[in-house]
Amino acid sequence: MPEPSPTDPALEDVADHLYVIFCDKLPYCGCGTPDAGYRLIHQILTLAPLYEDQRWQQVEALCGTPGAHQLVLAALNDADLLEHGSVISGSWLTDRGRWVLWAIEQIGGIDALEAVIDGPAGYPHDAEGCTDACFTIPAEAKPAP
Ligand SMILES: [Zn+2]
Repeated sequence: MPEPSPTDPALEDVADHLYVIFCDKLPYCGCGTPDAGYRLIHQILTLAPLYEDQRWQQVEALCGTPGAHQLVLAALNDADLLEHGSVISGSWLTDRGRWVLWAIEQIGGIDALEAVIDGPAGYPHDAEGCTDACFTIPAEAKPAP
């Protein structure tokens, strides 16, 4: 079976950094249904800023219970994908969160993410530390929607 791998080195770099976010910065386990977790994260990031139009309520419904809502938003804030002021439920995107939405589009959308993470993606730069530059949308790129 051919791997769904992008052969473009720039796209490989994007895929490897998505791997860092979803398998290292966010709580992760390969058993169960990790793809359901990726999709939830993508939905929440797409809804941000969550203080607008009461969209935090949609996020709470997606999470199921107030406790799960709190933990998911805390994980997204810890991973530096969202940030918040006085109320975590009203979180908004960080630059890194914007990069994640952009990067998912680059690899073919959220439907492609599981195959990329399970397949060709792995730690970038021989697993040496990433910097903010790794998670910055290239200046020549089109901004995320
Ligand atoms: Zn990096």
